[in-house]
Formats: sequence, structure tokens, C-alpha cells
Amino acid sequence: MATALTAGALGPEGVLTWALDTYGDRLAFTTGLGAGGLCVLHLARRLAGRLRCVFLDTGFHFAETLQYAQDVAAFLDIELILQEPEPYGPTWREDREACCDHRKVAPLAKALEGYDAWVNARRGDQGGLRVGMPLIERDEVGFVKVNPLANTPRTWVDDYMTAHRIPTHPLLSQGYGSIGCEPCTRKLKAGEGERDGRLFAGGKTECGIHTRLQVKR
Ligand code: SF4
Repeated sequence: MATALTAGALGPEGVLTWALDTYGDRLAFTTGLGAGGLCVLHLARRLAGRLRCVFLDTGFHFAETLQYAQDVAAFLDIELILQEPEPYGPTWREDREACCDHRKVAPLAKALEGYDAWVNARRGDQGGLRVGMPLIERDEVGFVKVNPLANTPRTWVDDYMTAHRIPTHPLLSQGYGSIGCEPCTRKLKAGEGERDGRLFAGGKTECGIHTRLQVKR
């Protein structure tokens, strides 16, 4: 059960400033290359002066995503670390939950070892389990999750991307709303929300990195 801490009514920049001041080099950044996450990285890079960020290379990404990861890292001038899973292991063909655990949850837990806090870019207006989440959470072992966009609407993300000319994922213009692994991502149908094209085990709305992650401390 996560415990909410208070961070007042800070906007994304205020939350990131607080997190950087509080945790310094013990604050981890990861990205799934979503637009909100790139805004967070752009802001954090400006505030911190340099930035190291982990991308989970599941082995099942679109080719466009892997190229985009390199392009956007160069644009943001950040160090992008590709975190791969252990060899072999289950795939989406047999068991999506086991595949996500092997290719996302376990590699992320490994990447976060030694850190005290982790910044991510979920937004409450994405729906599902994200509605009403706090700006800052702490788990049972004291690991802190910083959610600077928890209260930030999609329009802020779109405006920020445009204002700073951050390149968008090439598949967004082809009808996708949120882009994950190729076998588990489909184009949106009319009227669907941005994450409705993501396919997870048993019809869940999350892959597990925000629900089953346990960081060793
Ligand atoms: S999203 Fe699909 S392919 Fe990617 S790790 Fe999860 S089950 Fe595997």
C-alpha cells in the first residue's frame, strides 16, 4: 500500500525542483517515450543541467520507437541507458503478465536499485488506476515515486511539446495514441482514450511497473 506525502499544489516544475533538491543523484529518471515523459525530461534536464535516463528495451518495440529513442535523446541532450531483460524468459505469446514482469518490471527494479526516488510521468487524466494519484508516493520500504504530472492535463503536455519543439513519436500520426511494445499496441478506434490501444494481461490498464514493482533497498 503506497503512502501519500504532501507536496502542496506545486506544478510540474515545482515538483521536479523539490525532488532534485531533496534527492539529488539518488533520483532516478526513466522514460517510455510518451509525450508527458519527454516534457518531464526536458524540464528536468534544464533544472539539473545534465540527465541520465533509463529506457526499458523489452525486445518487442517498434523499429520506429528504437530510432525515436535515439533521436529524442540527442534532441534533449540526455544520456539514455537501454535496460534489457535477462535473456530468454516468457513472451507475450504465452503470458502477457509474465512477459511484462520479465521484460519491464524486473529490469526496472534492477535499474532503480541504489536510488531513493523515481520520477515518472503518469497523469491522473489518463484514467484507470491513475485517477486521483498523489504527486508523491512512498512504498512500504521507503522508496519514493514522484509524479510531477499527477494533476496536469493533457493540454499542458501538448502545449509544452509545441512550445519547445520536442519531436513527437512518428507513430502518433498513424493513429496510435500511446505506444508500447509492438505486439501489445494497436491503433485507436474513434472516441477511445489515449491509452485504450495498449493491451495488457487480462484486460488490465497497467503493465505492472506501477503496480508490481518492488525496489530493493
Ligand atoms: S507489453 Fe507485451 S511484449 Fe511488452 S513486455 Fe508486456 S506483454 Fe511483453
